[in-house]
Amino acid sequence: MTETAPDLDRLRGSAPPRNHDARTIAALTANPGCARRGLMDAAGVDKDAVARALGFPAPFGQSQFAITRGNAFEAQVKADGCAELLTLLRDRMGLAVSEAAYDDLEVVAGNEGRELRHARTRRLLARALGTGEGTLFDHPLLRLEIGGQLAYLEPDVIAFQIEGRLHVIEIKSFAVVDGQAEPEQVAAAARQSAVYVLALRRLVAELGHDPRRVSHEVFLVCPENFSNRPTATPLDVRPQLAVLERQLARLTRIDRILDALPGDLTFEPGEHLADSVRTVEARYAPECMAGCEMAYFCRDEARACGATGALGRSVRDDLGGVDTIGTALGLADGSLSPSDDLAETAEQLRAAARLRAEALGTGREGIA
Ligand code: SF4
Repeated sequence: MTETAPDLDRLRGSAPPRNHDARTIAALTANPGCARRGLMDAAGVDKDAVARALGFPAPFGQSQFAITRGNAFEAQVKADGCAELLTLLRDRMGLAVSEAAYDDLEVVAGNEGRELRHARTRRLLARALGTGEGTLFDHPLLRLEIGGQLAYLEPDVIAFQIEGRLHVIEIKSFAVVDGQAEPEQVAAAARQSAVYVLALRRLVAELGHDPRRVSHEVFLVCPENFSNRPTATPLDVRPQLAVLERQLARLTRIDRILDALPGDLTFEPGEHLADSVRTVEARYAPECMAGCEMAYFCRDEARACGATGALGRSVRDDLGGVDTIGTALGLADGSLSPSDDLAETAEQLRAAARLRAEALGTGREGIA
């Protein structure tokens, strides 16, 4: 890890680190300018626990029923060394899978430590790429650089090798009915799979091979037509990969955020927790409600200080540099004088105020 690792450990306090998964990375890249989320995720902070300790729990996650159903379907597909999955790939997808070695990388000799697991993932994938040995690699533990930090990524997927290329297989419990699935669920699965493809490509490149040996075509395995019978659908995730790479490159660097913070900052639950969280700048937008455990806390904070971001990302972007609604109103009615860099925005706000006044027939430019 990098030299910022001890600082990140301190931020987390005594709690064990949480691994990223594809959902957390997809959500992180949805708001690449948020230092608060970037820092908490880089430190492996349990944001759900922090939000609850602050009195702002967020209702995230699947229902217990959906989790149980998903686990049962996955166990069925993977039973007996993935026998059902192999039948699917061979007979229904027509893939020439000649041998079927299955390696589960979840636990190494009874040890679940992530360094050990990642080292084993590297070893087996290096062997597969070099000699072609091995077919199915379950639960590979990958790493991805997030904001300048290496984050462990725990995919609940299988890497599948055929004809010298690796494919990602993602098992989901939503149904495919008459060849169709819910588009939103397929889109979310494609975004998540793209995270795994990217992490696998980076690992393959580190191992000295062409990253294109990880295919952009992933296989989505779902139950078919209200039965438990699995079906596989190939998904091309190139568009999602392009978006992901662009967003990861835009993430604020963690070391720069850390440099600007007090040396004793910690997110350990206690009376100073809210102040500690507020110390780190957030970029709340209503879209946070769909993807971040801190959303209720950050929304409350944004509303209390009248942040323009609370009105939506497009409003904040249009008002670039004007952080509060009070400032926007002051520039619009002329009671505040803009700095040079806000002159153009202020002119647009005054024009909007004039148009509004004309439309309302008030003859006044005040918009409060
Ligand atoms: S909810 Fe808060 S911490 Fe999470 S992304 Fe939004 S602003 Fe950042």
